[in-house]
Amino acid sequence: MTNAEAPKGFGLAIDFGAAAPAADPAVATKAAPAAPTEARLLILGSGPAGLTAAIYAARAGLAPVVIGGYAPGGQLMLTSEVENFPGFPEGIDGPELMANMRKQAERFGTIMVDQDVDRVDLSAEPHRVWSAGREFHAEAIIVATGASALWLGLESETRLRGRGVSACATCDGFFFKGQEVVVVGGGDTALEEALFLTRFATKVHLVHRRDTFRASKIMISRVQAHASIQLHMNREVIEVLGEKSTEAVMLRDTTPGATSTPERLAAGGLFVAIGHKPNTALLGGALPVDAAGYLQLESDTTASQIDGVFIAGDVHDHRYRQAVTAAGDGCRAALDAERWLAERDASKS
Ligand SMILES: Cc1cc2nc3c(=O)[nH]c(=O)nc-3n(C[C@H](O)[C@H](O)[C@H](O)COP(=O)(O)OP(=O)(O)OC[C@H]3O[C@@H](n4cnc5c(N)ncnc54)[C@H](O)[C@@H]3O)c2cc1C
Repeated sequence: MTNAEAPKGFGLAIDFGAAAPAADPAVATKAAPAAPTEARLLILGSGPAGLTAAIYAARAGLAPVVIGGYAPGGQLMLTSEVENFPGFPEGIDGPELMANMRKQAERFGTIMVDQDVDRVDLSAEPHRVWSAGREFHAEAIIVATGASALWLGLESETRLRGRGVSACATCDGFFFKGQEVVVVGGGDTALEEALFLTRFATKVHLVHRRDTFRASKIMISRVQAHASIQLHMNREVIEVLGEKSTEAVMLRDTTPGATSTPERLAAGGLFVAIGHKPNTALLGGALPVDAAGYLQLESDTTASQIDGVFIAGDVHDHRYRQAVTAAGDGCRAALDAERWLAERDASKS
């Protein structure tokens, strides 16, 4: 598939902030008021991690309540084609995959609430969660609120997301075979994405607004030595050009005092690799985070530092960040929560 045929083939991260899109009616099938406010297990987030946890927990008879956010379905909701989720040899649209996961979870008794969690109190049992003016109580909680890709904030970037503009080279690089692409960023992730994209693109332009990278020395030397990667230091993308698909970007010289006019750089793809923001604000610091703001696991299980609170998916994983790894994590969290609840029941009797 060529970029000229866009938008098929690559996707976007949903921004769960103020501009979050309304719930997709294809996915949102149940109204919030039906949900009970007392649950054995509450799952926060309805991406691959949260919904996989719900499938497992519901099949175990826990009747989980998923408070899945105002934009349910997670990052794959704006991805037009997912080709690497096992079981779909022809690929599947992201929203269709998420609608299927949701139906599967609901089939076994999961209750969905399409609202954001505003805050939590995990200091005592039962754990308390507030969402859209309602207070929910649960013995166990799985936090699966994902992460949002950071974008440059350009109007043209938003317009061309899914039409050549992406935030995931692992997911979308394949669609840029034989084209030139631009990667923006200066950390390890950006350099890794640039190297990965050389497998498909004829040339990778790595654009960084400073004169030095933040990445590790080994990554910098690999990028510098690669014949297909051209570095554009002290440059920033100020506009993405193209009507229906990405055709070029405009680069501005960021050197202090520079007065040169912005230059046009032809490219079929723009990969924004300036980081992700884990969605943890709702926790109000109740769980420890690492230096990058991702939740930390307590051990090699999905347990957090708080008894009865488990963690799954991209909200703690900044290494793999894939739908299948998030789904695997959701499975592990549901099994951990189920065992924790069973042990608790046994200790009470
Ligand atoms: C552009 C792009 C394309 C991608 N394409 C692919 C691909 O082709 N294949 C692949 O394997 N992976 C792909 N990914 C990665 C994949 O989407 C993620 O790894 C995966 O979705 C992570 O799942 P998750 O459940 O952990 O989190 P998310 O999918 O981020 O879901 C988080 C959930 O938490 C909810 N939430 C957030 N805040 C709150 C709150 N306050 N209250 C309640 N709920 C909240 C959201 O509504 C959402 O339901 C892509 C990612 C991007 C950015």
